[in-house]
Amino acid sequence: MPDSTPLPAPGTIAPADGSALEAVKPSTRDEVVAAVKAARAAQAGWAASPLAVRAEHCERLAQKLLERRDEVLAIMSSETGRSPTECLMSELATVAPYVAGAIAEAKLALKPAKVPLSSLEYPGKRAVVEQLPRGVVAIIAPWNYPLSNFYKHLFPALLSGNGVVLKPSEYTPRTGAWLADRCAEIFPAGLVGLAQGGGDVGAWVLDAGIDAVTFTGSVATGKKVAAKAGELLIPASVELGGKDAAIVLEDCDLARTAVGVAQWGIHNCGQNCAAIERVYVLEPVADAFVERLGAVMSQLRVAPEESSELGPLQSAQQLAIVEDHVANALELGATLVTGGERTGSGYGYRPTLLDHCTAEMKVMSDETFGPVLAVTRVASEDEALKLANASEYGLNGSVWTTDVARGERLARQLHVGVALVNNHAITGTIPQTPWTGVKSTGAGVAASRFAYHTFVRPRTVFVDKSSKPDPWWFPANPDLQSLGDALVARGQGSLGALFTLAGLVGKRVKAIQTLAASKR
Ligand code: NAD
Repeated sequence: MPDSTPLPAPGTIAPADGSALEAVKPSTRDEVVAAVKAARAAQAGWAASPLAVRAEHCERLAQKLLERRDEVLAIMSSETGRSPTECLMSELATVAPYVAGAIAEAKLALKPAKVPLSSLEYPGKRAVVEQLPRGVVAIIAPWNYPLSNFYKHLFPALLSGNGVVLKPSEYTPRTGAWLADRCAEIFPAGLVGLAQGGGDVGAWVLDAGIDAVTFTGSVATGKKVAAKAGELLIPASVELGGKDAAIVLEDCDLARTAVGVAQWGIHNCGQNCAAIERVYVLEPVADAFVERLGAVMSQLRVAPEESSELGPLQSAQQLAIVEDHVANALELGATLVTGGERTGSGYGYRPTLLDHCTAEMKVMSDETFGPVLAVTRVASEDEALKLANASEYGLNGSVWTTDVARGERLARQLHVGVALVNNHAITGTIPQTPWTGVKSTGAGVAASRFAYHTFVRPRTVFVDKSSKPDPWWFPANPDLQSLGDALVARGQGSLGALFTLAGLVGKRVKAIQTLAASKR
C-alpha cells in the first residue's frame, strides 16, 4: 500500500538499499552564467578546429569512459541502484561503436552542400550551404540513463563545434559530474560546463544566454522548456515520455516473444522512455503468452539480490507512481499474474504482470515507468492497432510475429517514431537511426544526421563573379515583360522559350549597362 511518509530530497537515498547518499551542492545562478560564458569563450577556437580534430577528441572521450568504467559504474550503480553489469550493458558497453557512428553521421550532416544553379538565370554565380555551430548548447537530462542520455547529444553537439553545458537530473547528479570531469581532461578548458540542481537550476540554464537546448524528460517540463525556447527564439529538441505498445500476434514465436517483451518492458526496472508498457495480445495465443511471460518475469531478481537482472525504482517518488498504477488496475478488475509488491529493500519492486487490463486503467494510459507489463486481450489485429494508437504518446511500437511481412505492414500503421518487428527500443544504441516520437512524446530528434538542426544553423554563401548585370535589374522596359513571359513559357516546358530567352537576356543587359553608364 502507498504510505504517506514525506518523500526524501531527490538524490539523497541509495535506491537499492535505502542508505543515505551525500547531497550534491547545487550550482548558484552566477555559477550557471559563468559556465555558459566559459563554454562560449572556448567555443570559437573549438569550432575553428577541423572536424577530424573534434572527432579525435570525442573518440578519446569514449576511450576514457571505457578505461575508467569501474569508477563510473560504481557511481551510476549507487545512484540508480542497478547492478554494475546492468549499467555496463545499458550505458557503456556500446559507447565506442556509438561514437564511430556519430562521427560518420557528423561528416554527412556537416558537409557543405554546393547548390546547383542554372547558368541561364544565375550566370557566373555559385552558392554553397554551410553548417555552422549554434554556439553553446544546453543538454538537460533526466535520471533514468544518467550517462547515455548525455552522450547521445554531447557527441553531435561537440562534433558540430559547439560548447556545451550539461545539466544532470537532481536525482542522479554524480554520474553527470563524473562525465563533466572527464570532458575537462580532454576538451579545451570550459568547453563542457556543468550546472547541478533541480528545476530552478534548469530554468537558469535556459536564461543564461545559451543558443540551443536538447531536453529529455517529462511532458510537463518539456512543454515549459519548449515554451521558454520559443520566447528566446532558440531551437529546442524535446524528447519526452512514452507509453509504448507491443502487439503480439497469434503466430509469434512464443518463447522468444515472452522473453523479448519482458526484456524491453522491464529492463532498467521499466524506467525507459521506450519501455513496453502495454501489450495487446491476440486471443488465440493469449493464455499461453501470459503464462510464459509470467514465468519469465517471476524468475527475475531485483538488486541488491545476487546476480540481479533489475535495479530498484530510482526514487520514492517513482515507487509511489508504480504502486498507485498497480492498485488502480487491480481495483478496476485487472488480474495479477505475478509481482505487485515491494522487495523489502530500498525502492525495489517485483516484476509485475497484469492481465485483462482495460483502457480506463492508468497502466494503459499514463506513463508508469516501472517494472509493470499490462496485457489486454484483443480479437483482431485491427483492434490491436486501434488500441495501440489510442495513446497520448508515440515513441516506439512493435509487432511480434513469425510472418515478417505481416509484421512490417502492421508496424508501419503504428503512430510512432520508431516502428519495429520482433524487437523493441533496440535502436536507441544505433547512432544512425533517429530517436524520435509523435504526439506528447515530442518532436525532438536524438541521434543521426536528422538531429543536427539543434546543433547547427545553415548559412548560405553566394558569390557572383559575373562582370555583367543580371537581366532583370532596372530599368523596366517592354523587354522585361517579354523576359518574364519567356521565363514562364520555359517553366511550362516550352523549348522554344530558351532561344527567346537567350536573345532577350543580351538586349536587357545592354539596356541595363546603358542605364548604369548614363549621367544626370
Ligand atoms: P523531468 O522533466 O522531471 O526532469 C528532466 C530534467 O529537467 C531534470 O534535469 C530536471 O532538473 C530538469 N528540469 C525540471 N524543471 C525544469 C525547468 N523548468 N526548466 C529546465 N529544466 C528543468 O523528467 P525526469 O523525471 O527526470 O525524467 C523522466 C521522464 O523522461 C520520463 O517521462 C521519460 O519517459 C522521459 N524520457 C524520455 C526519453 C526520450 O528519449 N523520449 C528518454 C529518457 C527519458
